Amino acid sequence: MAHTVLTGDRPTGPLHIGHYFGSLANRVRLQDRYPTYVLVADYQVITDRDLPGEIQRNITELLLDYLAVGLDPAKVTIFQHSAVPELNQLMLPFLSLVTVSELSRNPTVKDEIAHSSQKAVSGLMFTYPVHQAADILFCKGTLVPVGKDQLPHLEVTRTIARRFNERYGRVFPVPEAMLGDRPLLQGLDGGKMSKSRGNAITLSATEDETAALIRKARTDSERLITYDEENRPQVANLLMIASLCLGRPPAELADEIGYGGASALKRLTTDAVNDFLRPIRKRRKEHDEAEVREILAEGNRRARERAVVTLDEVRAAMGF
Ligand code: ATP
Ligand code: MG
Repeated sequence: MAHTVLTGDRPTGPLHIGHYFGSLANRVRLQDRYPTYVLVADYQVITDRDLPGEIQRNITELLLDYLAVGLDPAKVTIFQHSAVPELNQLMLPFLSLVTVSELSRNPTVKDEIAHSSQKAVSGLMFTYPVHQAADILFCKGTLVPVGKDQLPHLEVTRTIARRFNERYGRVFPVPEAMLGDRPLLQGLDGGKMSKSRGNAITLSATEDETAALIRKARTDSERLITYDEENRPQVANLLMIASLCLGRPPAELADEIGYGGASALKRLTTDAVNDFLRPIRKRRKEHDEAEVREILAEGNRRARERAVVTLDEVRAAMGF
């Protein structure tokens, strides 16, 4: 089947290895096979904070992360929400296709509210999954490489696509998620690894910063290292991180460490991560801000061209 791939990230901070194993690695694989769109979700930054913050800087860093992991702007359309008004306009008809109770039941919305720095929940937070439906459907995306936290959101997109087609005639495909090797990587504090939660091993950190971060990770005092996700989640998570970077089973790594305890585990994990990220970090330095601006200008232009066509189709289907 011919697919169109759409996925994206909020420019809220540097990308981390959770992104890599959850979604970026799949994007790099898919870009050679299918038309691929990657969204810099700048409007979604203000779902859970008052101000967009250092938005330009974050966008530049995000693009450098993309280039570093091997996304190729010749193959991938990289674009911003704020540059494609026709995409955002799809939110209007889409909002009419979901109920308030469906939105307030969404577990990802609940989790993000729990971690939000705001006292009250913004309307934009509730409509986040509807906005995401516009992101995916503006280019008739069929395949969405995402982490597990995004599955409830994607369900909303699927519902919206189906309901739109039922009411107005078939315009949209019903997209599918594509989960990565590790659909929900934990951070060094045991919660979901997140840009905004200070618990992430970022792609752009130095080797020393990475070592310091892993050294601080909580573990336990048991000297014999075993892979036991249920009873020793923190130890298991470090083993999992090392396993993803080395391409070896976590239990095998645990056997190798044996009675080495937490310090040997952390040393092994640090080396595994730094070795894995070295070529990515090197490639990052080969690109600069001027290049990033050009890539975005071209991506924004292409995305807008696509969005205009879809919005016209939507208006025609609705009889406007
Ligand atoms: P923020 O804390 O600002 O929300 P984030 O780390 O959650 O940042 P997003 O930009 O919200 O990152 O998510 C981008 C993509 O990365 C999504 O597809 C999401 O599912 C995936 N992703 C994020 N965190 C993880 C993780 N820990 N493991 C696997 N995938 C992840
Ligand atoms: Mg998030």
